[in-house]
Amino acid sequence: MGWTVIKDGRRACITCCESKALSDFYSYRYTTTQGKSSRRYDSRCRDCARARRLARFYRDHSRALAVSQEWKKRNAEHVKAYAAAYRALPESRKAHNFHQRIRQAKSRASGEYSQQDIDDLMAKQRGKCAACRKSVRKTFHVDHILAIANGGANDKHNLQILCPYCNCSKQDKDAIKWAQENGRLL
Ligand SMILES: [Zn+2]
Ligand SMILES: [Zn+2]
Repeated sequence: MGWTVIKDGRRACITCCESKALSDFYSYRYTTTQGKSSRRYDSRCRDCARARRLARFYRDHSRALAVSQEWKKRNAEHVKAYAAAYRALPESRKAHNFHQRIRQAKSRASGEYSQQDIDDLMAKQRGKCAACRKSVRKTFHVDHILAIANGGANDKHNLQILCPYCNCSKQDKDAIKWAQENGRLL
């Protein structure tokens, strides 16, 4: 189990890679065998932890899902109102805009890559993270070496495979560098 770095009370979520305040992560008290106790923070933000729990729930409870879909059908008005209320939240606006920007940047970027390119890359990297050399056979992120948002291409020459931890800390660093370059930090 790896963790992203906690810096200035913030950590990058291992799933969505967004840098978030520690209060956005579930935490628990942890006591070492020596009896020292400290607080540990989950590596996924609350939103992602919740989404993951839900995904697992739906996978394991397809019957429950069918029941809930049945309920939703019968209560369509309620569901519609709930969705509208969610969309009205400033957080949902922000999330929507964030993903919208990524989608737009992706469609603007030149080039494309295939599953074969990823397989080749995996072989070239011998199944290891390009940054820390840990195995990425189980989970990995495909990273754009030069971020698409910064004009990077979406083809195989601009790709590397990173483990989730390195990918998230890279994004963390870029975000800080970016902010500094724009004179917003320090
Ligand atoms: Zn997250
Ligand atoms: Zn790594």
